[in-house]
Parts: sequence; C-alpha cells; structure tokens
Amino acid sequence: MSAQPQTFVIVGAGLAAAKAAETLREEGFDGRLILIGDEPERPYERPPLSKDYLRGETTDKPYVHAESFYSDHEIELLLSTRVTAIDPGPRKLLLEGDRRLGYDRLLLTTGAAPRRLDVAGSELDGIHYLRTVADSGRIGERIERGQRLVVVGSGWIGAEIAASARQKGCEVTMIEMASLPLERVLGPEVGRVYLDIHRDHGVEFLSETTVERFEGEGSVERVLTRDGASLDAEFVVVGIGVAPRTALAETAGLRIDDGILVDQRLESSLPGIFAAGDVANAQHPFYDRRLRVEHWANALNQGPVAARAMLGQAVAYEEIPYFFSDQYEVGMEYGGFATSWDEVVFRGEVAGREFIAFWLEHGRVVAGMNVNVWDVNEAIRELIRSRQPVDARRLANPDSALENLVGQRQ
Ligand code: NAP
Repeated sequence: MSAQPQTFVIVGAGLAAAKAAETLREEGFDGRLILIGDEPERPYERPPLSKDYLRGETTDKPYVHAESFYSDHEIELLLSTRVTAIDPGPRKLLLEGDRRLGYDRLLLTTGAAPRRLDVAGSELDGIHYLRTVADSGRIGERIERGQRLVVVGSGWIGAEIAASARQKGCEVTMIEMASLPLERVLGPEVGRVYLDIHRDHGVEFLSETTVERFEGEGSVERVLTRDGASLDAEFVVVGIGVAPRTALAETAGLRIDDGILVDQRLESSLPGIFAAGDVANAQHPFYDRRLRVEHWANALNQGPVAARAMLGQAVAYEEIPYFFSDQYEVGMEYGGFATSWDEVVFRGEVAGREFIAFWLEHGRVVAGMNVNVWDVNEAIRELIRSRQPVDARRLANPDSALENLVGQRQ
C-alpha cells in the first residue's frame, strides 16, 4: 500500500464511521487511521436506544465493536474530542484546544442533531430529546418509574418511545402536527394502522396540533397545546425530526444543501473529502437524484462504500433504502423510497397486524413494508429494483410468490 496516502481521518464516531474504519483495515489500508468523536463513547448503534436498551431489558451499551477492536486494528480513537475546522488547502484539521492534525483522506460522518422545540418553558427540567446513549439512559430512568409522559412528534422517535413507555406502564399522550402518526413516510393508509396500534395500547393521540408552551416550577408539569388542551406531564420527549450536522463541513467550503452534497462514490465537492450516514446527501444512481437517508441501514452500508472510495476503488452507493421499527408486538421492515403514489395494496391481515403494504406508482412498486411477516423484504426491494409493472391483484394475493410477480401485469 505504499502508494496510498498515509493518514485517513474519520470525524464523527457513529456506526458509519466504525464500519468505514473496519472496511479500511479489511481492504488492507495500512496507514495511520484516526477516528474522532465528540461523545465519550466509542461508536454504538442507535436502534436499541428507543427499544430494548431504553426499557432496561439490556444494560449492555450497543457498541459496534468491542473496545479491543480499535487497538487490535491500530485505529486511533480520539473520543470527547471536537474538530472545530477543516483547512482543505493544506489538508489540516483544527481540534479543540488549538491542536492540529493533518490528513490525506477525510471522511465526515457527523450525523444529525435533534431539532429543538423553541417555546416558552423549553428550558424546564424533564424535557428530553433522544439521540445519544446518555439521552436513552436518562429517559429510561423516567420510564422505569412509570411517570406520565407527553411525546411531541409521532415520527420514528415518538412512536417507538410511546410504545416503550406504554410497555413499562407509563400513561402516554402523543402530540402531532400531522393527522396521523408516521404520516409523512407511510401516508394516510398505513398511518391509520399505526394510529389504531397505539390507541389499542392506550396511547392518547392529539393530531394537527403542537406545543404552545410548557409550564412548571423548575421541572415540567404541564404541556399546553396550541388548540387549548392542558396535559399533565411528569416528563416530555420531543421527537420532531433532525437536522444534518454540517457546521464543520461548512468550514471547509464544501457544497451543502440539506446535508453534505456527495456523488455516488460519496465524495464531496472537494476531492479527498467524503461523507456518509445521516449527514450525506448522496447522488443515488437508481433514483437519479440526491437522497439523504436518516436510518441505521444507510449508516451501516454507506460506511464501507465510503472506505472503498477513499482507497480509490470504483464504487457506487446504490442500496434501496431500508429500515425497521418495533412497536409493542408489531415488528416491521420498510424498503424503498416513496414521496408520491397512486395506490396502496395490502396483502394479508391488516386487522390482525400481519400483512405487507405496497406503495404503487404507475403500476410499479416504489415501496413495501412487511408487518409481522418476515423474510420478504429482499424480494420487495427486488420488485422495486425491477421497475416492472406488477398486477395489483396478484400483489394482494398471499399465495402468489413475490419473486414471480415481476412483469405480470394484466
Ligand atoms: P421524524 O421521523 O422526522 O418525525 C418527526 C415528526 O414530528 C413528524 O411526524 C413531524 O410532522 C412531527 N413534528 C414536526 N414538528 C412538530 C411540532 N412542532 N409539533 C408536533 N409534531 C411535530 O423524526 P424523529 O422521530 O425525531 O426521529 C429522528 C431521527 O431518528 C429520524 O431521522 C428517524 O429516521 C430516526 N429514527 C429512526 C428509527 C427507525 O428507523 N426505526 C427509529 C428512531 C429514530 P411532519 O411530518 O408533519 O413535519
């Protein structure tokens, strides 16, 4: 590897970073490899933070690798360390405390930060956001005590926290700007299914409203909504979306538009600087547009592609987006990307919560979600990749194998 540059730095120590570092060593990179993160923890995975780790069913932090992995692979881990600026000319990073560090290739995996709710009373104790393992621990302590919870936002964080809190015996109210939970991604047809799931488990759902203000003496005691409701609360979790953390990339003058703009090799507008995970708005060859995906699988799979691109390999990130969610006894996987569709076709028992939903546009499957039905999501993504029209009646029929549906429109 003598022709390789000698120092590769990864900034942002999450899943994408850990997988990139692992891949660099697997691919034989034998130069200096430095992974820098501002949290005190080595890279960990986030899905358990709103599920089993939050509920205290496991106390093991969901680290990506054992501690020894980093020393075994000569990966220098700089934790609790903030990079404050990138100087792309001389290829140098400025670290807090006026330290400097040179790089030959740089990967930015700085992730995303929760959007804050800025209303009167936002500074009261007991108003939580979930992003880090420490956040999950703090919310988990409240849930363990069975306290009364108001969840603001019914996206993925809101829905999974509400489910975990109900499972631990908390009284839960969700407040959502849209009409239905998870509506922006799943639409009204499937959003209604999730509304029923939460209501059946005793969650009170307030739609088309938001928080006017929080009230309490030092700690939150009440949530007042814009439409005049007053809700008692011992704690609040706000999950109203995230914003990509691009401040560092801005110091380098990288092109930014809802994330760091990168090509299909995950390389930014400046050669030698790459981005992956939540922060990367990447050109996607299949969709022929840029996509920024804020899910676990995207970090898992983009990290290795970025690593190979850093080594000069001809790669492209072209995975069909995938994510999963567990709420109560309802597990699901979603594949695809759909901003518009003509119809939603159901296969199986929606009322029994064992079904597949397919989103179709111009007779083609653009997304599919299996709920308590397993080992089908790869076939769903194959249907999407085929871009072939499918027969909706066959799609709805559980007896016709998904693998045989491509091109069978009548
Ligand atoms: P999210 O999924 O984007 O959902 C945010 C929700 O809050 C939306 O329904 C949004 O409604 C609503 N909202 C926005 N402003 C509001 C307000 N002022 N009052 C009430 N509701 C408001 O974001 P998230 O739930 O915060 O999750 C954060 C990130 O973690 C996301 O990237 C998510 O993908 C990821 N995550 C993923 C999983 C998973 O894959 N299973 C699990 C947890 C977290 P509108 O749509 O109408 O704006």
